[in-house]
Formats: sequence, C-alpha cells, structure tokens
Amino acid sequence: MAAISDVREIIAGDGEVGADIVRNVRRWVDDEVIPTADALEHAGEFPTKLHRDMVDMGLYSITFAEQWGGLGLSYETYSAVIEEICRGWMGLGGIVNGNGLVGYALQSWGTDEQKQRFLPGLASGQVQAAFSITEPNAGTDAQAIETAAVKDGDDYVVNGNKLFVTNGDRAGVYLTMVKTNPDASPRHRGISALVVERETPGFSTGRLIDKMGYKGPGTTELFFEDARVPAANLLGGDEGRGFQHMVGALEIGRINVASRAVGVAQAAFDASIVYAQQRQTMGVPIAQHQAIQLKLADMATKIRAARLLTRDAARKKDAGARIDLDVGMAKLFATEVALECTLEALRVHGGIGYTKEMSVERYYRDAPLMAVAEGTNEIQRIVIARRLLEQYKID
Ligand SMILES: Cc1cc2nc3c(=O)[nH]c(=O)nc-3n(C[C@H](O)[C@H](O)[C@H](O)COP(=O)(O)OP(=O)(O)OC[C@H]3O[C@@H](n4cnc5c(N)ncnc54)[C@H](O)[C@@H]3O)c2cc1C
Repeated sequence: MAAISDVREIIAGDGEVGADIVRNVRRWVDDEVIPTADALEHAGEFPTKLHRDMVDMGLYSITFAEQWGGLGLSYETYSAVIEEICRGWMGLGGIVNGNGLVGYALQSWGTDEQKQRFLPGLASGQVQAAFSITEPNAGTDAQAIETAAVKDGDDYVVNGNKLFVTNGDRAGVYLTMVKTNPDASPRHRGISALVVERETPGFSTGRLIDKMGYKGPGTTELFFEDARVPAANLLGGDEGRGFQHMVGALEIGRINVASRAVGVAQAAFDASIVYAQQRQTMGVPIAQHQAIQLKLADMATKIRAARLLTRDAARKKDAGARIDLDVGMAKLFATEVALECTLEALRVHGGIGYTKEMSVERYYRDAPLMAVAEGTNEIQRIVIARRLLEQYKID
C-alpha cells in the first residue's frame, strides 16, 4: 500500500511548494504532532513542547524580513507550512497566526522605533502576539467597537473590553483596535490600532473561554480600566488608520485560515482512505463500495481545488498584488471544503468516527471555527460579490 505521504504528493499536484522547510515540517508533524495531538487536545492543554519545537524550527519567522531575524520567505511557503502543521493539529496554526498577522501589520505600517522594539521578539517566537478586534457588541460589524482611547499627555487612556482573543492568555503584545474618535464619519476613520504590552497598568486578561474545538491556543477576554498605553505604541503614529491596518492584516490571516482548512481537510481524507481499505463489510473493504469511492473522489478533488486557490492567493500576495478577492475566495472555498470533508470522514468511519478514539472527531470539531474566524463566510461572499460587481460594472 502506498504511504499516506505518497498519496498526498499525488493529490497536491503542481501547487505544492517543494522547499526543505515544508518537508521538514511534514516529517515533524508525522513524528511529533500526530502521535500527541489527540491526547493534548482532549486534555485542553497548551502544547508546550510542540510550541517550543515550532520556535526552534523557525516557524514563526517565515514571513519576517531577515533584518528582524526572519527567514524572509514567501507567503506561498508560509501557506504550505501552515497546511502541514494543521494536517497534524489545527490549533497550532492559530498559535503561529497571531505573530504572522501582527508581524505583517508592524512590518507594513509600524514606525522604525516600533519595528525595532517589537519585530525581533515576534519573529523569533519568543514573544507571542494576539490580534484583538472583537467586542461583545462588535464582531462582523467591526466599526461598532466601543473600546475608547483618549490621548492624555504621552499616553492613551484606554477603557473597554474585548472578546474572543486567540492567544490572549499567553501573549506579550496585543494589536488592539480602539476608537480614538467615536464621532468620526464614516465610522472607520475613528478607529486606530494600539500595540498593547502585557504589563500595561490597567490592562488584564479574563477567563479562558471553553470552546468546542480549536483547543491548544487559549481564547480570552481583555479588560482595559484606565489602562495607560504610551502614545508611541500607536501603530504607524497616525490616528484613524486602524481600520485600514486591520483589513490588511486580516488578508494575511485569511491566507493562514485557508491553509489551515486545507490541512484539516487533508487529514480527514488521509484518515478516510486508509480506513476505507481496512474496514470490511459484505466481505470486501468498504473502499470497494461505490458509495465510499464517490466520497473519496469528491474529497480529494475539492481539497486539491482548495489548495490551488489558497496557493494562488499567496503567490499573488508575494507578487504585491491586491488580493482581497483572491484570498476571500480561497478562505471561503477552503473552509467550506474542510467542513464538508470532516463530515464525510465521519460518515466513512461509521460509528467509530463519532468517538474520541479517532482523530476525525477532532477534525470535525475544529472545522467550523474556520468558517467563522477572520471574517465569517457570509461576509467573504459579500466581499467577493462587491469586488466582482466593481470589476464587471456596466455603464
Ligand atoms: C475560537 C474563536 C477565536 C477567535 N479569535 C479572535 C481573535 O483572535 N481576535 C478577534 O478580534 N476576534 C476573534 N474571534 C471573533 C470572530 O472573529 C467573530 O466571532 C466573528 O468575526 C463573527 O463575529 P460575531 O461572533 O460577533 O458574529 P456576528 O457578527 O454577531 O454575526 C452572527 C451571524 O450573522 C452574520 N452576519 C453579520 N452581519 C452580517 C451582514 N452584514 N451580512 C450578512 N451576514 C451577516 C454572520 O456572518 C454570522 O453568521 C474569535 C472567535 C472564536 C469563536
């Protein structure tokens, strides 16, 4: 029987990045992540050793410029690495994502002083980053945030609270969207991005939110009670540009989430094609039944399409192109494929798939988050349609 990695090569087709780092990560995932992920995930533990491995392998540093200690590699390579990591465990991709997003924002818009202060720690992975937009009354409608930052001398005095902050429990820096002008019209002009450091007086993190999946990274609330954040931590030094920073950073987040989704879908397929050849009914392996073959064929075809869309968006980012349409399509399609494939994997496994003895149960719980995070798929469709209507506008 062909090894699963060989099968994956076939499915991956031309889109696969052959860089050494991807091969190394694949080997690490097979040897270290897959054998331990279920137990750690069921225990709800932070994966201390796997996180240390990721730091040691330089996986935080892929897209950081060399001057900050990064590897200066492409988003295409980043996408392939995130896919591999998440073939083992989706939560690990969320841990790396914080630094990817915040690092992108700082590299793109940070002042020189901010870059020097924050980027080396983020690139090495010694400092964890979190990205905080959502509030109890502002999720999809990000412009409705209420956390207020009022300038007072050399500081901003911040009041409010944030919800659903991935890596919120362990982060050293939080790129936080705040309202510096609540009366601005349009509303987005009143939003600014502050780099909040963990030790900021008046800042604290709340409870760990109990989630159905996406375990590994902790998800918390944040509280600001007259928190004094130095004005020097205003991203780029300009008020009113936070929404633009947020939208730009979320594109990197969408490359990450689309890649995560391909990895999870691939894991579901890998498990299914093995099990289908082992499990016998009516005297033959279930892989001999056409009903199961159709599932395997649909899964593999959709995964390949999702991977190609995702790598295409990453390559366009590498080329410096505008990618809101491309990455929106990739995120939408790949995360829907992950939802479909994880459900189909449960069906292929029958009853055992519904138990905690099989990893497919974990994949099934991890998949829905990706349809919600980094902009819900409803919103991706709206963004895609808006761009298409611009492109195909008739007089
Ligand atoms: C585990 C987890 C981790 C997260 N991590 C982070 C993080 O690190 N940082 C962060 O800032 N946020 C984070 N989030 C928050 C996440 O980004 C939001 O949950 C998401 O943006 C949706 O917002 P909401 O939950 O308020 O849903 P709502 O905005 O209330 O939306 C509810 C439903 O209505 C739909 N909807 C809303 N408005 C429209 C519209 N105009 N048109 C059509 N449909 C619409 C939505 O698509 C959705 O289906 C996380 C969430 C989870 C669950």
